Amino acid sequence: MKKLIIALAATAMAGTAAAWPTKPVTIVVPFAAGGPTDKVARDFAEALRKPLGGATIVIENVGGAGGTLGAAKVAKATPDGHTLLLFHIGMSTTPTMYRKPGFDALNDFEYLGMINDVPMTLVGRSTLPANNYTELVKWLNDNKGKVNLANAGQGSASHLCGLMFQSSVKIDMTTVPYKGTAPAMTDLLGGQVDIMCDQTTNTTSQIEAGKIKAYAVSTTKRVMTPVLGKLPTLDESGLKGFNVSIWHGLYAPKGTPKPVLDQINAALKEALKDPEFMKRQEALGAVVVTDNRTTPAEHKKFVAAEIEKWGAVIKAAGQYAD
Ligand code: ASP
Repeated sequence: MKKLIIALAATAMAGTAAAWPTKPVTIVVPFAAGGPTDKVARDFAEALRKPLGGATIVIENVGGAGGTLGAAKVAKATPDGHTLLLFHIGMSTTPTMYRKPGFDALNDFEYLGMINDVPMTLVGRSTLPANNYTELVKWLNDNKGKVNLANAGQGSASHLCGLMFQSSVKIDMTTVPYKGTAPAMTDLLGGQVDIMCDQTTNTTSQIEAGKIKAYAVSTTKRVMTPVLGKLPTLDESGLKGFNVSIWHGLYAPKGTPKPVLDQINAALKEALKDPEFMKRQEALGAVVVTDNRTTPAEHKKFVAAEIEKWGAVIKAAGQYAD
């Protein structure tokens, strides 16, 4: 009889929503404030609050080591749905790139769903003499050994894109790592570094204001926003097959109760349909995910495939960090 009551209680609980959130939810962004992932997270948090009845969502920036410090922090957080991680493609590059990333991408997290896909732009300081992609490659060749390429640390999107660009044009550059491309952008604006491959969510406003030079986009299709539509793709500029796009996803520490995960996933799906969020993402060149990768299982399958894909690229490039 006792067993039956417990079983009935469990069934009843499974049918009811868990009490979540019971306090502010923290979304850890593993990069500096003001950068591309931070911008996505803040817009997404705004959209996520609505299905949660205006719950408080706090963004915590834990930058450094290509996003691994922030991811490791969430992997060890209390699994109650009040600490989440918003990470990007680094979730799939750092497992190969770092000997000790501080977390296991596939086993230390509960997957909640994918959020968006963001193209990148190859940009330069405003004082660079090159005014288009052909002139840029000539300038890079003329200045071999002197070119500084900024990035957000080993395993970050800018690092990956910069790595692929260097090997495609066969020019080695001095890479300058930052805690995110927000501080890297500050130095690009100040002329301390020469070029950078960065997400359109961070470069659009600077390109529009004419504060940096833009040479190409990293996807095989042009990015048809008013600001980026005129830029060629790297593929059409001569780097056949060059294609990098930066996805973002949401994760909870392993062991977060299933009813809580279900509620977060339902809220995520609602947030991705938010017209304000969609409009803002579209204006910045980002594509909000509408396919089944918004489900935990499909997103996890996708990330596992990405780990294989980028792992092979990283191993071939011999790029490892401690
Ligand atoms: N996502 C990083 C940031 O927000 C940039 C990168 O990965 O390149 O700063």
